[in-house]
Amino acid sequence: MKRVAVLGGGPAGAYAAEKLATAGLDVVLLDEKLAWEKPCGGGLTYKAYSQYPFLIDNDTPKRIVTQTYLSTASTGAAKLALTKPLIIYSRMELNQMLLRRAEAAGAQLEKTRVLEIGRKGHGWSVKTRAGKMDVDYCVVATGARNTLREVGTQWASGDTMIALGYFVPSEQAHIDLEFFAGFEGYIWVFPRNGHLSAGICGKGESAQSLRARLELYMAKKGLSLAGATFYGHVLPSLQKPAWKTNRVSGDKWIAVGDAAGLVDPITGEGLYYAVRSADIATGLILAGQTVDYRARLRSDFTDDLELASRLAKRLFRESFLCGSVPERMIQFMRRSPAFCEILQDLFAGTQNYLDLKARLKRSLRGTFQEVAFHLFS
Ligand SMILES: Cc1cc2nc3c(=O)[nH]c(=O)nc-3n(C[C@H](O)[C@H](O)[C@H](O)COP(=O)(O)OP(=O)(O)OC[C@H]3O[C@@H](n4cnc5c(N)ncnc54)[C@H](O)[C@@H]3O)c2cc1C
Repeated sequence: MKRVAVLGGGPAGAYAAEKLATAGLDVVLLDEKLAWEKPCGGGLTYKAYSQYPFLIDNDTPKRIVTQTYLSTASTGAAKLALTKPLIIYSRMELNQMLLRRAEAAGAQLEKTRVLEIGRKGHGWSVKTRAGKMDVDYCVVATGARNTLREVGTQWASGDTMIALGYFVPSEQAHIDLEFFAGFEGYIWVFPRNGHLSAGICGKGESAQSLRARLELYMAKKGLSLAGATFYGHVLPSLQKPAWKTNRVSGDKWIAVGDAAGLVDPITGEGLYYAVRSADIATGLILAGQTVDYRARLRSDFTDDLELASRLAKRLFRESFLCGSVPERMIQFMRRSPAFCEILQDLFAGTQNYLDLKARLKRSLRGTFQEVAFHLFS
């Protein structure tokens, strides 16, 4: 293979370009914006930065957050210490850092929109706003708003969430998460450098209704909209069947990150999976074994995320013992240090969903065990 085009320069594309260029391939990365403030919390879990230390060991400004408050309207807030902190970046700065690494590895970066790609000989002709180029292989990293029909995952209804929010000129040291009875989604307030990111993601409601929920919450918290900037985007949130049918690769192309739908349907975490899928995909490209991609994704993390898409329905939508699941969770947090430890590991990404049932069985006793089993299995 001589020349690879990486379509999209978010975390997935930038890391794929870095890895392929480091291995000596001729790599061109095409992004219509290059580094930009993509609507995103910008939160990276311990799982992400412990596995990819360059995500924390760098000069890029970041917040290190050690406390979160989980709340519902009826229970109020309960504090959870993040024993393995979450780090939060501005996406402009995170993307810039990753793109610089790709460039330093030898990838050529071009700021242009990819309009379409078509077969040419054994490879592709890539048409951009700046012209055309022939390449042997395409890495599809165009994110959740991928407009290229031939490649990447096509969303069925119910496979995405709306996510919207405000960058608010205010300051706090902790994260807030608010849940609602019967609503598949949540509100977050993330501290970032110089401002807060207050947002909501959810399924089954219009953007207008989500925005109204968020604004009501912000008003109650005293977060003013004065000087705030609105943002909105799409978040992949695959339903259970889609984990088997999402288009992740084909002849001379492979999709990474959001373009393949690789986001945790419960938490909305996508940054780790963007980098991880780029790592797996590029390893297979370099070994000439891309047919194994789906199987590798499954054993690495998509079996876990498939289970998460089933758990999400139960966690967010069902009621239990005359209350919603989030209400019961918050009551548990107040009473069981062992349950808090499990939640801490879920937040850090060191507890996966597949082993959760066994952990609950090991760690909790009596009624706690029974109830937690019902909630999480
Ligand atoms: C509101 C919100 C909050 C989130 N919060 C978090 C969080 O706190 N933590 C977390 O882990 N995840 C979070 N996510 C998910 C995370 O943002 C994504 O999973 C992550 O950005 C995926 O990276 P990516 O490289 O696959 O795609 P993206 O980051 O979306 O990058 C895609 C790139 O492709 C470019 N592009 C697209 N089409 C074209 C084209 N035709 N031509 C040229 N360029 C193109 C775009 O300009 C963009 O730069 C959040 C998402 C949303 C919407």
